[in-house]
This record gives sequence, C-alpha cells and structure tokens, in this order.
Amino acid sequence: MDQRGRATIELEHAFGAHNYNPLRIVADEGEGIFIWDTEGKCYIDLAGAYSAESHGYCHPRIVEAATQQLRKLGTTGRNIYTSPLGAFLKRACELTGQDRALPMNTGAEANETALKVARKWGYTVKGIPGDAEIIACEGNFHGRTIALVGLSSHEPYRCGFGPFPPGLVIIPYGDASALDRAITENTVAFLVEPIQGEGGIIIPPSGYLRECAAICKFHNVLFIADEVQTGLGRTGKLLACDHEGVKPDGLSLGKALGGGPLAVSLFLAKKEVMDVLTPGDHGSTFGGNPLAAAVGLEALNVMMDEHFIENSAVLGKYFLELLRGLKSPIIRDVRGRGLFIGVEICEEINARTICEELLKYGIIGNGVHEHVIRFSPPLIITRKWIDESFRRIARAFSRWSEWK
Ligand SMILES: *Cc1c(COP(=O)(O)O)cnc(C)c1O
Repeated sequence: MDQRGRATIELEHAFGAHNYNPLRIVADEGEGIFIWDTEGKCYIDLAGAYSAESHGYCHPRIVEAATQQLRKLGTTGRNIYTSPLGAFLKRACELTGQDRALPMNTGAEANETALKVARKWGYTVKGIPGDAEIIACEGNFHGRTIALVGLSSHEPYRCGFGPFPPGLVIIPYGDASALDRAITENTVAFLVEPIQGEGGIIIPPSGYLRECAAICKFHNVLFIADEVQTGLGRTGKLLACDHEGVKPDGLSLGKALGGGPLAVSLFLAKKEVMDVLTPGDHGSTFGGNPLAAAVGLEALNVMMDEHFIENSAVLGKYFLELLRGLKSPIIRDVRGRGLFIGVEICEEINARTICEELLKYGIIGNGVHEHVIRFSPPLIITRKWIDESFRRIARAFSRWSEWK
C-alpha cells in the first residue's frame, strides 16, 4: 500500500470511532463494478456495499439526476412541497403494489417507521386491549437503533446497549407454526426479512412467507417485509416476497433505492395502515428531500430500464452454479437467490481471512458473521465479469492450505 493509503487509514483510525474493521484497501474511485485504490489498483467489487450499489459506482444517469437536482434545489423541509417527491412516491407505490410511501433516509429509519405505524394501527384500528407486541425472527437484522437491536438475537448488536423497549418478541426463523403460537391479542405486526442478509444469506423453507402471511391475515396482524437488502431486484424478483406471491401489508426499502451514492429509504403500506399517521406525529428533516427524491426516482427507473431484475435472476443462477462447482474441502454450503449469494465455509477458517485472500486476487467480498462470504455485486454486472470473478475466486480457494 502506498503512503497516501497508509496515511488515510491512520487518520481514520486516529479520529474515527472504531465500530468497523475494514479490509485494508482505500477506495479512491469507482465505476460500475470496479473500485480503484489510491495506487490505482483495480478491484471487482462483489460486495457492492451490502447491496446498496446495485446500480454500480457512478452510474451516469444517477450522477446526472443528482447534479441536475443539486443545481436546481437541494434540501428544504417538508414544511413546503417540492417538485420531485410526488413522482418518486408514485413510482415506488406502483412498482411495489402499495398505496402510500413514507420517505426516510436509512433502512433503520424505514423499519422504525414500520414499528411506529404498526403500533399506532394496533391501538387505533385493530383496537388491541393492552400494550402492542411486535414479533421478529432469530438471526434478523433490521438496523441499529435501540428498538431494532432490541429485536435482535445477535449478542454483539445488543450487548451493552440495553434496556430495550418492551413489546418485542423473538421467534425462530423459518418456522411458521412458531409465529402462530407467538401471536396474542396484543400482537400488531410480524416483521421479517424474506431472506436474512446479515444473518448469513439464510433462505427460509419454501412456502414460509406465504404461510406467515396467511397466519397474519387470519389473526389480523400486519405482515411487514424488511426488503431493505433483498428488494429492488437483488434476488431476481423486484421484491423477494414476489418469489412466493406474497404482498406484504407494509414494506421497507432502502440501500439500492439511493442509486448508490445516497441514503434513501421508504416505508410503504396499504392505505388503511399508513393513514393512521396524521400531521406532526412522525417525520424526518431530510426524508424525501428533493435530491433524495430525484435520485430515488431515477434509481427505480434505471433499475427497470436496464433490466436489473432479469440480470440478477439469470446471472445469479449462473454464478451460483459456478460456485457450487467449486469443490473445495473448506466450503460447507453455497446458497443464494439471484445475485445474493452466500458461501459458507468450515469453522476452522474465518470469513475475514478469505476476504483478505480474495483481495489479493482483486476481488472485494464481504464476510457476514464468522463463516459466510456474501456476494452481492452491482446488478449491472455482465456474464464476462462473473466468469472473470469466478476464475479469481477459484484460484484463491485452490491455495487454501497456505492460508494462515
Ligand atoms: C442494511 C439493512 C438495514 C439497515 O439499513 P441502514 O441503512 O444501515 O440503517 C435494515 N434491514 C435490513 C434487512 C438490512 O439489510
């Protein structure tokens, strides 16, 4: 690494909080699926910012939409109307089949919104007799706020951050009967990832989402899908819920919704649910600002115009098959849907070690928890670059016995 790269890392380490442990590469420029470091070395980014970079770095249409909007009007408050917002919300509702959308910035905020709306819906529409309960699943990741880590079962996310709000219930993931048993007269919502991303690319049994949605409907409980990571083509459908024909009562989107450079999120819901909100009871200074709305709208349009969904389905299947053909003694499982793939390795080797090895071959991967490597490349990737990525991954894995 060159002097500039080392100095950058030292500076960040000296003045930044140490809540991340990044791979030792300093990204300086990006275009499409590629990242260049301070020395000009090129990498293929198969991590894609945990799915936030579906459009690829510096997508020309995203850059254009952002610059045009920046020249016209940046952030104003929601105390006045701004021109790009309505069109953005309409497009998002039409694509997802929801009635209303509430703009926030981060995925965590979209999920906080979901919890607030669900609770208020419980008190004002469902008419629950006691304090609202919300059910989520073991292994989930919904964000980092106090309430959302209160829903988590992963000790590092929770440890030292309590006490957490009451009314949060955790059940095993992938077991619909556990949901049925956990529902009480005070249950207002079931919040679930259709595929657990941070949990290690965990795909529930087929039919799970459909069964859970039916159970929720039967008990008049909101089925809320957290598709912050799985949404917008990542799994080869617009929404991962579409694989089972499930239409959620509420839906969180984020990550790729910002087209790469911005934090743009939405909580979407049916009218009967969203209309429990009235002026003054929820909001965000930056949520739905003109820049975010213009970029969010363009992100959705680019996703449709450039066939991200189909590309993810076709190349995801192809990449998955290639990776499954990697007959390495250290690989325990290869799973995924669309360009959302997890390679689980044996317990003796840490995912971090593999990501460091992959880096030597010009591949950026991402370790989730201890033993899964996540590949969620930009959805603009082509077959040629899947082939090249695979060749490099295969070469790296063939030398596992030399890893320390
Ligand atoms: C990343 C993620 C979030 C949190 O999004 P932030 O923008 O980091 O707040 C929430 N839910 C899921 C499923 C995610 O993958």
